[in-house]
Amino acid sequence: MTGESSGLIVTPGVVDEVPVLEVANVVKRFGDTTALDGASLKVYEGEVVAILGPSGSGKSTLVRCVDQLEAIDGGAMFLDGELLGYERIHGHLRPLTDAGRRRQRRRMSMVFQQFNLFPHWSVLRNITEAPVAVHGIPEREARARAMELLERVGLSDKADAYPRHLSGGQQQRVAIARGVAVDPRILLFDEPTSALDPELVDEVLQTMKQLASTGRTMVVVTHELEFARNVADRCVFMAEGKVIEDRPADEFFRDPRSARLRAFLARSG
Ligand code: ADP
Ligand code: MG
Repeated sequence: MTGESSGLIVTPGVVDEVPVLEVANVVKRFGDTTALDGASLKVYEGEVVAILGPSGSGKSTLVRCVDQLEAIDGGAMFLDGELLGYERIHGHLRPLTDAGRRRQRRRMSMVFQQFNLFPHWSVLRNITEAPVAVHGIPEREARARAMELLERVGLSDKADAYPRHLSGGQQQRVAIARGVAVDPRILLFDEPTSALDPELVDEVLQTMKQLASTGRTMVVVTHELEFARNVADRCVFMAEGKVIEDRPADEFFRDPRSARLRAFLARSG
């Protein structure tokens, strides 16, 4: 393909596609603690990227910064090439207003360790609320889509139930369906199985695996090495606020380069 309109001649296969998510040299401090110390990451359309690393290495902070729950102190983040958290006014970058930030956040979904379902709403309402109230999808359409998603996560019989009547694993599957319901550009997961009883972990991992197979772009912070190895396209290892290794999943486990990753895998395996 030649890019004639721009006057550039490009070689097929060498064009760098715009990542869905780019994190470039991001710094985040909490007082004296530097939680992110120049973290960088690119995630392309349809990729599943697992983020691994010891406790305190900045994994949660990274996804929370992307979701704009935390303001960053340096670097930049882009969603589909658009700068996150800022807008350009007369050539100057200004932090986005709350409304502007909400608009950007609508294009991503985050699934937390604690499922955060609204306890006083039915399962169905938990899923349809954002599509209807935030995205302006007609109620009928949102319900039909929610039922489809519930079927996919194996919970179509729970549409009218309240969260307290569900197991933790079922609640997390509802939270995942809720995340998908807004058709986000990217799904962020922060240790989605860490709060679950061990016997409930598998059903949630299966749901995520199935989701990955539908071509969703996903970033998953996880301690589940088997999941990372089998489901992720790429694995990222973080330590002390930096991305230390970023490799195809099979290489990551077969041939870890850094001593720290080797030690981590030896400890965790
Ligand atoms: P991980 O998710 O990899 O366990 P975190 O991103 O939660 O790591 O934390 C990275 C570092 O930032 C840790 O030292 C943690 O104590 C610190 N940290 C995270 N959130 C806050 C906060 N809200 N206030 C103060 N320190 C924080
Ligand atoms: Mg964490």
